[in-house]
Amino acid sequence: MMSDTFLFDKKFRYLPKLIDEIQDYAIILLDNDGTILNWNRGAERIKGYTPSEIQGKSFKSFYLPEDLENKKPDRLLELARVNGRAEDEGWRVKKDGSLFWGSITITAIHDDDDVVRGFVKLTRDLSERKRAEEALIRHTREIESKNKELEQYTYIASHDLQEPLRTVMNFVDLLEIEYSDKLDENGKLYLDFINQATGRMSNLIKGLLDYSRIGKKKELAVVDCNELVADITKDLEVAIKNSKAKIIIGDLPEIRAYRTELASLFQNLISNAIKFRKKDSVPEILISAEFKKEGWEFMVKDNGIGIEERHLQKIFIIFQRIHSRAEFEGTGIGLAHCKKIVELHRGKLWVNSTYGEGSTFYFTINTNR
Ligand code: ADP
Repeated sequence: MMSDTFLFDKKFRYLPKLIDEIQDYAIILLDNDGTILNWNRGAERIKGYTPSEIQGKSFKSFYLPEDLENKKPDRLLELARVNGRAEDEGWRVKKDGSLFWGSITITAIHDDDDVVRGFVKLTRDLSERKRAEEALIRHTREIESKNKELEQYTYIASHDLQEPLRTVMNFVDLLEIEYSDKLDENGKLYLDFINQATGRMSNLIKGLLDYSRIGKKKELAVVDCNELVADITKDLEVAIKNSKAKIIIGDLPEIRAYRTELASLFQNLISNAIKFRKKDSVPEILISAEFKKEGWEFMVKDNGIGIEERHLQKIFIIFQRIHSRAEFEGTGIGLAHCKKIVELHRGKLWVNSTYGEGSTFYFTINTNR
């Protein structure tokens, strides 16, 4: 085994050799004006010059023309001279003209009288990390732009679909008013079917329009969730009375959120908790919140019909329903709405459920940070 004295030899006999052998960092010795005095193997690997090609030249050789114009290398040396140290990250030029992303530290070297005699410049090539970051940013921007396009398309399509639908509905009304005495039972039954179908289509289109509008006019505000949920339970008074639902509300926080959207989120979750109740028991719904590392986590828990495990992901997809309309009314848009609203708040929405026993929907809100 090597002894400590080998590494920490008083005369640093081996230090120049060690520095020379380091491959991951370019370690360069500069004089007071930034002229290169020494060049290790890492520098050769990263920047492409052999020691004889670069020694005696200025470290400015590695900077882009715009950085030279802005006097960036001079400023960095000055900063290191005054503060003892300067740091920078940026694109630098190799011998063959290609670029690399360098993370750079320049440290001033002082003599015994504390006068700056030169600098040690340490450079790490972080090009791979930088390129991966840039690719991620590009990818995110592309997705955002595609999402916007899709939203616009949804808005236009649903908006334009309303017009011919309204015409159909108006003429069905006229048929009923003006020709009902001329129609036999079958004719009336068919009109009834047309009415039901157009009514459903109108609801679907309205749902789609609302969905594409979520977050369009969002305004961040301090929202007292106790008040918000109390208002919602007032709005749902009829459904609560008819179902005899017992709603227990825990101590809810004040948070920074998009009030209208948050209200719609609670409204959807609470009305689902009432709607998907078991026929033979009193619905009990618990609404509470807990502060976690990631921010506030809310919970809407019911003792309803529950959801089979195989459906747990499907229910958040727009228009996806598990039950027939005869069992439970609905369009299948509610939870897609909820998901979009939670994502607007940089949070997550998920569900735990036991089929036949009940479901608990959780969501987090992250707008406080
Ligand atoms: P809708 O209520 O119009 O059907 P949603 O998107 O709100 O649409 O819900 C999708 C499906 O998820 C529902 O059809 C239902 O099967 C299921 N679901 C939602 N909430 C609950 C709940 N609290 N308990 C049981 N099933 C639920």
